[in-house]
Amino acid sequence: MMNCTACGRPAAIAEVESSHTTSEGVVRYRRCACGGRWMELAQLVLAASSVTPPGRRSGG
Ligand SMILES: [Zn+2]
Repeated sequence: MMNCTACGRPAAIAEVESSHTTSEGVVRYRRCACGGRWMELAQLVLAASSVTPPGRRSGG
């Protein structure tokens, strides 16, 4: 997780100005409350092995 380079606030509270998908993943442009901006790259998850079949529920 990144922090703002200007004020050190965690990136989680920074607004996402825009995002778009590229061949390398999803690029997001973040804007901090202090006005600082930066770019982050989120890798795409291509594996689908964690799909849970319908009708199965745990607990109960
Ligand atoms: Zn900041």
